[in-house]
Amino acid sequence: MSKRNLFINGEWVTATGNAEFPVYNPATEEVWTHVADASREDAKAAIAAAKQAQPAWAALPHSERARIIAKAGEILEKRAKEIQEILVPEAGSWIGKAMFETSYSAGVYRAAAAAAYQVTGEILPSDLGKLSLVVREPLGVVSVISPWNFPVILSSRGIAVALAVGNAVVLKPSEETPVSGGLILAEILEEAGVPKGVFNVVTCSRDNVGEVGDELVTNPAVRGISFTGSTAVGAEIAAKAGRLFKRCVLELGGKDALIVLDDADIERAVNAATFGAFMHQGQICMSVERIIVDRKIAETFTEQFVANVKKLKVGDPKEIGNCIGPVINRKQLERIVAHVDDAVSRGAKLLAGGGHKGLFYEPTVLADVTPDMRVFREETFGPVAPIIVANDEDDAVRLANDSDYGLSAGIITADEERGLAVARRLNTGMAHVNDSSVHDEPHVPFGGIGASGLGRHGGRPGIEQFTELRWVTLERGGRHYPPMFVVNPEHH
Ligand code: NAD
Repeated sequence: MSKRNLFINGEWVTATGNAEFPVYNPATEEVWTHVADASREDAKAAIAAAKQAQPAWAALPHSERARIIAKAGEILEKRAKEIQEILVPEAGSWIGKAMFETSYSAGVYRAAAAAAYQVTGEILPSDLGKLSLVVREPLGVVSVISPWNFPVILSSRGIAVALAVGNAVVLKPSEETPVSGGLILAEILEEAGVPKGVFNVVTCSRDNVGEVGDELVTNPAVRGISFTGSTAVGAEIAAKAGRLFKRCVLELGGKDALIVLDDADIERAVNAATFGAFMHQGQICMSVERIIVDRKIAETFTEQFVANVKKLKVGDPKEIGNCIGPVINRKQLERIVAHVDDAVSRGAKLLAGGGHKGLFYEPTVLADVTPDMRVFREETFGPVAPIIVANDEDDAVRLANDSDYGLSAGIITADEERGLAVARRLNTGMAHVNDSSVHDEPHVPFGGIGASGLGRHGGRPGIEQFTELRWVTLERGGRHYPPMFVVNPEHH
């Protein structure tokens, strides 16, 4: 595969000094392609192009922007197979996950096209008889910084609504997935008819991301930032954006709980736990990272869960039968190994897995996990399912809420009202009764609280995130200034 360039102002251009960086296939740990390594100057050029192009884009009828964004969804759907064939080697995606990702992403563009019709305002009553309007305007230039785990979905989530409501965007995909998370989207949006400069992609290596990332946040033309990634990087970005009074939506890490109550259907709980903990090797922000089971059913649940996990096949992610592929890189692998070692050294029991070959880590189950273990508190982001036993429902809620994170949660129970009541007691942005914590739809307000982030993508809050609210009035003769201020008090 040949080198890939940056997409700035509708042109495919090389990075300053022709710099490039390698992208690896995690299944083989070999170089898969080379991509342009942008500098701060390249990021500046992309932002300048976006700033220049944005007013004309915002001035288009909303229906025209919607048509173009919806078309991007159609093109993405037509190119789904090709994109899947990139996601497998670039992101270590199991082919089934890649198929899900492309079909979901097309929906992200459709929902965003619909959002273009929903940028509504208000008419307020006025004591002075004024026409008093509340209107929404695009922010201007929005920077989108995205991660590698669901590159097509998470980049699209950041860019589609922002574009649909009239912003111009500069996207910086993860250095692990610059093609599926960025360059392929530039091709699609270009083909859909997004005008020059309205959408730009700068790819860069981890060595350059400090500089490029800083420019994407601090450049005065940038008025909004959409960041999806780790809590550590998100905190730095939020601090910089806060100092400069910039709008910022942050979707960060998680340590989501699946609560299995004493009346749960065990098979349903096992299915939700297995999918939630092991889909994409546990590399989902909403992955089930803590299974909190009522003591009364803990033994039966654990036995059936372990049996189900042992059926999961690890191997070449191109094969549909192998649902467990590689983790993304050595750093991730080391974190997983450290979490499992720490848990075992503190008394957790390893009931399945625990080993790895290359970057393929076995689906792993740990029992007797307690809050003093790293695997209870820190995001593992790997195929590891820790089981924690709760004494009763209150204890389960207490354990679930014992976390700095607050993204999503699942509750399994035969009693729907009880499930909803427990859902309302959890400190999370999202909660799903009788399902795993892993669940998303393009039009819902997706996001977390605490260390899991700030703001929401999707739905009405998604539109609000990328627009500025303004109050505009028209005076119609009802306003009287004190007479000493006016030229002719009789006229007034
Ligand atoms: P990361 O924070 O390392 O990287 C995310 C993005 O930030 C990448 O594009 C990276 O290049 C960029 N980046 C790194 N340093 C930067 C800097 N100093 N300035 C600007 N940008 C910088 O995260 P990751 O490893 O790519 O992704 C995994 C993390 O993302 C996990 O913690 C996961 O939970 C989280 N995540 C959250 C959600 C969500 O919706 N809440 C979704 C997916 C992933």
